[in-house]
Amino acid sequence: MAKIKRAGKGIVDKSGVTRWGSIHDVPDPFLFCLAWNHAWDVGEVVERPGWGTKVWEAIGSCDCGRRRKDVIDPLSGGLHSRQYTGGHGFLSKSRPDKKVARLEYFRRKRARQEELARMQKKSESETG
Ligand SMILES: [Zn+2]
Repeated sequence: MAKIKRAGKGIVDKSGVTRWGSIHDVPDPFLFCLAWNHAWDVGEVVERPGWGTKVWEAIGSCDCGRRRKDVIDPLSGGLHSRQYTGGHGFLSKSRPDKKVARLEYFRRKRARQEELARMQKKSESETG
């Protein structure tokens, strides 16, 4: 039987992708990327032979753990290839759409705001 690696409420698959069963299980930094896309930090650009000429290659990474290797044509900027690794996903084939992710993110944010307001009110009543 295959050993199951766990990450919080998620399960890490063979390719290193952490998968969740539900949007409610997704930790905040990953939820942010689901709702508003990844914030790519592009690493060193390397020139190498490819496609009968030379290509430029760079690896982008996001704080959530997702990585993206882009190979482009240095003359036109056209994309030759793009490969993704790591990061996060879902156990079912149907990934929640952006509306569901945004709603969950906003719900959590509101819950934190309300908690903060309660704490401030409590603090004011104690000192006031
Ligand atoms: Zn990300």
